[in-house]
Amino acid sequence: MTDLLVRGGTVVTAGGSRLADVAVLGGRIEAVEPGIGERIVGSAREVVDAAGLLVLPGVVDAHTHTRTPSDAEPDRFFHDSVAAAFGGTTTFLVFNTPSTGTSAAAARSLRAGLAEWRDLTAGDAAVDHAVSLVVTGQMDDPVAELPAVVDAGVPTAKAFMVYDFRLDDRRLFEAMRTMGRSGGMLEVHCEDPVLIDTAVAEALQRANTQPRYHAVTRSREAEAVATHRAMEFARAADAPVHVVHLSSAAALAEVRRAKATGVRASAETCPHYLALTQDRYDLPDAEAVRYVISPPLRAKADQDAMWSGLADGGLDLVATDHVPDRLDREKAEAARGVPFDRISNGAPGIETLLSIVYSEGVAGGRLTLERIVDLLSTTPARRFGLGSKGAIEPGKDADLVLFDPAARRALTAADLHHTSDYTPFEGFELVGAVRSVFVRGRTIIRDGVFVGQRGFGRFVERRLTS
Ligand code: MN
Ligand code: MN
Repeated sequence: MTDLLVRGGTVVTAGGSRLADVAVLGGRIEAVEPGIGERIVGSAREVVDAAGLLVLPGVVDAHTHTRTPSDAEPDRFFHDSVAAAFGGTTTFLVFNTPSTGTSAAAARSLRAGLAEWRDLTAGDAAVDHAVSLVVTGQMDDPVAELPAVVDAGVPTAKAFMVYDFRLDDRRLFEAMRTMGRSGGMLEVHCEDPVLIDTAVAEALQRANTQPRYHAVTRSREAEAVATHRAMEFARAADAPVHVVHLSSAAALAEVRRAKATGVRASAETCPHYLALTQDRYDLPDAEAVRYVISPPLRAKADQDAMWSGLADGGLDLVATDHVPDRLDREKAEAARGVPFDRISNGAPGIETLLSIVYSEGVAGGRLTLERIVDLLSTTPARRFGLGSKGAIEPGKDADLVLFDPAARRALTAADLHHTSDYTPFEGFELVGAVRSVFVRGRTIIRDGVFVGQRGFGRFVERRLTS
């Protein structure tokens, strides 16, 4: 007996594409073979025709700031998980970023933060998910608890080199080394606090408070020097390291140099660096606030470097850095003259990862289909310890996306399902569309309609293997 049979689609893996049927049993992929549908179609509980469609592994978004439910917004975690599903993302990782509703106890302890996050999100998500903890300099002892959370199935944590909750260099190094020795991996937000804090202070002193100064004060050099330091710390610690949201050619050069000389580094970039450039900050303030993200949007040359890095392995994956901010609030802040350094950082993206990377990458002629499957599913699953995810092969979870490569549509916020009221990609002409999505063999999106269930998504315990 087969639970689900996906017939006649083009099955895409990082290694190649072929016409094949996919049989699913007990939530896992049972077989991937041309023509098996012929033999078992009569005994399959559910048969889905995928003729003319691509069958992709579900996207694994390794970087989101999806927020836990609050009294004011009890459904926001659920809604963003539904948005993920609409976009073809079947597993997302969340940072329990401090200051977004965390209790005082959770802000001081990783283990308390993990327990609180698990409790607040339990029974809520429509798709599978996991957490990466943010390790801050404001915790009682940010390094000591790392081995315990690795053992609890949370083997990645993120440290910031900038902001008031950053880790200083000594503790950053200790955190990397402790993670390496415990079977974990530190993720690092690489921006230099001295260069950025100085530039921000000078801008504010000159009354340069508008959103565009966010970009002016966060230079490529500040990103590159921090990336360099993170790479050399990882080398000295003999530990793996992951660079989040890399945005500039200069920072990518540091990652390339480190990898070539034996550092176990990986790096991600984000759709906004691939599809948008810094000229957006020249727009009127009420529009420019959409793009107050860190690092900021960069020049066309940096964008070209990101695409080259994705094509040749300088970069390892694409993740969203999804922040469910609201444009109405940010516009009000800009209208009140709130200085750029106090406008909420980040932009939504949980629903648009596959569509932007497919449109700009594959349809744009920059990447192969197999390469984006690697960048969006296979490598993030492997690098972040999601052993059952990220590929269409027997034994893996049946997380599948049926994707129509012939579809055309203009992207607009009104069509999205996330908890934000905007998209930074408003008006983009998209090629391709997600038609149906399965998580562990269960239909979540059917022909563009959500048919999943709140709480079906599981918290996934992770173990790093590479
Ligand atoms: Mn960040
Ligand atoms: Mn982030």
